[in-house]
Amino acid sequence: MYRTQPQPLRSMANTISSANHAPAPAFPNESMNVMKYASPDPKEKINWLSSMPFFGFHALAVAALFIGVDRASLLLCSVLYFVRMFFITAGYHRYFSHRSFKTGRTMQFLLALGGTTAVQKGPLWWAAYHRKHHIYADTERDIHSPQRGFWWSHVGWILCDKYKTVDYKGVRDLAKYPELRFLDRQHWLGPAVLLIACALVGGYRGVLFGFFLSTVLLWHATFAVNSIAHLFGRRRYETSDTSRNSLLVALVTNGEGWHNNHHYYPTSARQGFFWWEIDLSYYMLYGLSTIGLVHDVRTPPQRILLGHSPQVARRTLPSRGVAR
Ligand SMILES: [Zn+2]
Ligand SMILES: [Zn+2]
Repeated sequence: MYRTQPQPLRSMANTISSANHAPAPAFPNESMNVMKYASPDPKEKINWLSSMPFFGFHALAVAALFIGVDRASLLLCSVLYFVRMFFITAGYHRYFSHRSFKTGRTMQFLLALGGTTAVQKGPLWWAAYHRKHHIYADTERDIHSPQRGFWWSHVGWILCDKYKTVDYKGVRDLAKYPELRFLDRQHWLGPAVLLIACALVGGYRGVLFGFFLSTVLLWHATFAVNSIAHLFGRRRYETSDTSRNSLLVALVTNGEGWHNNHHYYPTSARQGFFWWEIDLSYYMLYGLSTIGLVHDVRTPPQRILLGHSPQVARRTLPSRGVAR
């Protein structure tokens, strides 16, 4: 059985844990304050100068709201948000980080190229740090655990100098492709092309709404998986980390909010394990598998679904590909 009775509350994360769901493990260092933690490592201090573009994006995103919203700008912003969220969640996360489905080399390149347009660096950088997160989740070696502070996990780790470069050791399976190494080094190319395309399509409104506002929203939704989905929500599975399932995060991230499911069974391309756990990226991968663009799409094995709820497991979405 995967459910357990709640334990005594010991932390902020545990305080918001729901009854009748598995409790989050205690923080490794309970003297840490989740909101005010400051790293003693000077390389983990925010570099305000090199972070200027990050704040500049936010200023231009706010500027978009001041020039007034119109239907075309809102549509462009939304389309670019959800399309790029697909590339981040299905591409950078489920494919490059976890290899949860297979595809051809051209499609692999397109997933990487699409991912770069989300302005979250290259696929090797993204996958290398994400793989480390799964190995060390919520231990002192976890780069962006909220146990080191909410803001640190949400955005702080990205703005310091320590994690700007990538060690290819953890992503050798990806680094063997020269085109992926190229995109990882020249990760600014995708955003530059998108910026020009937004200007051509919608002028300055296209740039502010389609590029800057959409990108900033995309960033914070992605960051929320590291911060909010390790603090707020329910825990179905008793994992050794603080991961949680959050419908709200799932809705804004095309399905990544089922983070406790994901930490329990990370190689599944499907993160919403049951039919009511909305997982837009999986539905799209399922669609792509029907036309042969991706294959061997991994899903959670029946023993995991049946162990939780045998009745509803049988009514869940059909799977294409493999369940391991
Ligand atoms: Zn996580
Ligand atoms: Zn993951």
